[in-house]
Amino acid sequence: ELVAGVRAGHRAVLARAITLVESVLPAHGRLAQEVLSAVLPYAGGSLRVGISGVPGVGKSTFIDAFGTLLTEQGHRVAVLAVDPTSSVSRGSILGDKTRMQRLARDPRAFIRPSPTAGSLGGVGRKSRETLLLCEAAGYDVVLVATVGVGQSETVVSEMVDFYLVLMLAGAGDELQGIKRGILEVADMLAINKADGDNVLAAQRAKRDYAAALRLMRGARGGWQPPVHTCSGRTGEGLPELWAEMLRFREEESGAGRFFARREAQQVRWLWALVDEGVMARLRGRPEQRARLAALEAAVRSGETTAVAAAAEVLATLGLEA
Ligand code: GDP
Repeated sequence: ELVAGVRAGHRAVLARAITLVESVLPAHGRLAQEVLSAVLPYAGGSLRVGISGVPGVGKSTFIDAFGTLLTEQGHRVAVLAVDPTSSVSRGSILGDKTRMQRLARDPRAFIRPSPTAGSLGGVGRKSRETLLLCEAAGYDVVLVATVGVGQSETVVSEMVDFYLVLMLAGAGDELQGIKRGILEVADMLAINKADGDNVLAAQRAKRDYAAALRLMRGARGGWQPPVHTCSGRTGEGLPELWAEMLRFREEESGAGRFFARREAQQVRWLWALVDEGVMARLRGRPEQRARLAALEAAVRSGETTAVAAAAEVLATLGLEA
């Protein structure tokens, strides 16, 4: 029933399926995996776009306007949020429908706030599965919003085809996370709030960032991340950003890189899940806890080498060297 409802594009059913996927109850987990397996053949058909930027850069306003532009062109747009901080509540909530009022009322759009349960890894996993459900429900553009703090942008860049970073003119590189390598994962930069008195400063910032990107990534072949200015408030520049995304898909598909990137993401995801599973199994064995603590103490005191202790830990999982 869930699968049929999702496939038919019923938003209420899609929301229920996502709630199931987000549930931490083991019984729900099994059903969720069944639903996911059933919809998987129908997933994969969207352009997955990550959008990040520090709080206040204008993400909500931008997504409201950008998403509306796309639905007006006939697209069906899903908006997901990946925000490991939202449970701690730092004030602004990503994916908050009250800050995306046009899109929240749009029958061609679907907005889902960030799952709140637990670790960044957990949030990332649920968001990936939610993304697949949205694709199976017929959404052909999925916008994945994230805050530009912590490691959330890495998690998001591992689940999207195209990564857009929103920036502000004159806000300072450190403040915007430039030092943490955001330029490395960006497929496009957009200097947002390029309206009113801010237009000249935005154009200056655009030139500076374009030069910085050329320096950083100039030697690489393939896609060169463009830098644009835009305004979520006025809508200025948004059609140009969408045109760049379409050009990206066309060029990267033509060069065989578009699906290669997804395949590589899937393989990295597989091993991340294995890593996570091994650690979860280790921690999930109370009878081993004392043994593991003793091993740790032995390594600390130099009585055992880390290599020998690691082999012993793996042996407790039946993984012989
Ligand atoms: P978020 O925290 O990144 O989601 O940012 P919001 O979309 O909530 O916007 C933060 C503040 O910036 C709000 O006061 C908005 O009204 C304002 N803002 C957002 N987009 C623009 C824009 O394009 N131009 C201008 N001038 N202000 C904007």
